[in-house]
Amino acid sequence: MGSRIGQFALGPLGTGIAYLVLALGAIALSAGVGNVAIAWPPSGLMLAVVLLVPRGKLPWHVASATAASFVANLIAGSAPAAALGYTIANLTEMAVAAALLRRGGVCRVSFVAPQGLFCFAMASLLAAASSTLVAALVSPGAGMAFIESWFVTVLLGMFLFAPPIVVLAELPATQRRPLRDRTDVAAAAGSLLLVTLSAALAFGQDRYPVQFLPMMAMMFAVLRWGVAGAVLSVGTTAIIGTIAMLGHLPRADGLSLLAHVRLLQLHLVAMLAAALPMAMLLATRTNLRRALAERVRLLDQSELLSGVGHWRVEPGAERPYWSPAVFAIHGLPPGTPPPLLSEAIDFYHPDDRERVSALVGEAIETGVPFRFESRLLLRDGSIRHVVSQGERDFSSVDGAIGLFGLIQDVTEQIEARRLLDEARRTAERAAEEARHLAETDMLTCIANRRSVIASLDRAIDTAARDDGCLAIALFDLDHFKSINDGFGHAGGDAVLRDVARVAAGCLRHGDSIGRIGGEEFLIVLAGADRASAERVAERVRLAIEQRVSIGLRRVTISAGVATMGDDRDRDALLERADRALYAAKAGGRNRWCMAA
Ligand code: GH3
Ligand code: MG
Ligand code: MG
Repeated sequence: MGSRIGQFALGPLGTGIAYLVLALGAIALSAGVGNVAIAWPPSGLMLAVVLLVPRGKLPWHVASATAASFVANLIAGSAPAAALGYTIANLTEMAVAAALLRRGGVCRVSFVAPQGLFCFAMASLLAAASSTLVAALVSPGAGMAFIESWFVTVLLGMFLFAPPIVVLAELPATQRRPLRDRTDVAAAAGSLLLVTLSAALAFGQDRYPVQFLPMMAMMFAVLRWGVAGAVLSVGTTAIIGTIAMLGHLPRADGLSLLAHVRLLQLHLVAMLAAALPMAMLLATRTNLRRALAERVRLLDQSELLSGVGHWRVEPGAERPYWSPAVFAIHGLPPGTPPPLLSEAIDFYHPDDRERVSALVGEAIETGVPFRFESRLLLRDGSIRHVVSQGERDFSSVDGAIGLFGLIQDVTEQIEARRLLDEARRTAERAAEEARHLAETDMLTCIANRRSVIASLDRAIDTAARDDGCLAIALFDLDHFKSINDGFGHAGGDAVLRDVARVAAGCLRHGDSIGRIGGEEFLIVLAGADRASAERVAERVRLAIEQRVSIGLRRVTISAGVATMGDDRDRDALLERADRALYAAKAGGRNRWCMAA
């Protein structure tokens, strides 16, 4: 709605009418002050128009205002030629302002930033000066008083009227404090009344010198409404001051009318000069505060998202400050009062409390920053893993010691790490089991064929590398078929297990044994020469004969022993051992034969 009103008010026709009304009003007021106007409001209006209306529409507004200026001058009694001259002066002023301030112009006006204000003041000065120059040129007979008056009134018109129009037009966007409720309306009305009364008192009587009153009244307005308060107060003071002065002349002080007008003008400029910087500072502060609030909100949200919170212990404080994320990490709803410092340790897991207290205490004492991992025990009994880090913080006032720190919820990471470790261990176990299965004979639990042949190959490689010796013993159970026949397959299996166990028990560390067929076994004797191979073969044979039996029947084996030849050929070695085994069988069994 504000913008629709603005559009209507700022339409070219609206501009022309407003120009006419303001011009005639100023002329009418100045009529009682010896034709010396306090200010020339149309100049302020047009400066605002230059700042506000869209680029393409400006010429229409200027044309409309130019017409209004001409008409106003005629009505005021100027001859057509003089009216035309003054109108050209006013047009020059608009053109200069537009050239300086429009997009792509020299600078950007703002009533809240120092550069913007400076820019506004400079543009007004230049526009007023150029307008005065033209006015002086078109009225050669006019004296210095005319020139001075033209310049001051145009400048004051700009200073007093452009800011309120611009600020009011942009109010929804720039002013965050519109009149929101009754209190606001009452405060605005009260403030306006105060300014009006102070202006009336300051300028409507000359018994008491209370010219400072409008300034004080304005300060209240500035504190509450910033730039808008400033310009409305100064504008009100200008109007009330003019009217009051008119109603109270001549004065006892003997000053001329012109001097009174100049004093009022000076007063208004002083008010503006005092109020605008202050209003500007307030606006900057508000903007900073808003930006800060936004940053804090952003920080809170990022902290919540990332599971990192910050906390602070002010020196001498009873409770720490906790950011919202710290509450979330502790499983507490935001808005809960943070714990007393003496109770904060209770949030930790009982097993961690002593360590945490010691670490923090040490940091306070030594000033060395701390960082540790610990567990929080939440009220619902669940456990959170957190990483805390922080450091000592000195109060800048009295050097008292406080603390500042971060706390990060790493439960998920730790849980993920635990699951990963577990998965890796399970996978390793499965792989180990698979490997074991692939290398183990299921019946006897010793190495299977593949595995013992692999051991043999390794032993051959080692012997070849070290130029060492190597022997094998290949053995087979005697008359095993009849054991199976007599005691069943299960009985035969039990015998196979016993044979494997007893034979393995006869070997040194480093030797290996595996089952390579139904009831055939291979022993790899790494580093064994012929003599020691013979000893092992005999030891195994004897041990089985003595210790393995089924029912009343003793179990025996026959073995073929072979030492590795120079060819280092595995298959040839096995072949020779097999032939020796055959020889042992042929020789009557329960014996071993050395391969040729
Ligand atoms: P020899 O003294 O000449 O070796 O006579 P033998 O009866 O032992 O003859 P051979 O070595 O040919 O016997 C092999 C027998 O071993 C045949 C088969 O029934 C038996 N056998 C092979 N594997 C297994 C097994 O896993 N369990 C059982 N119980 N018997 C098996
Ligand atoms: Mg056999
Ligand atoms: Mg056999």
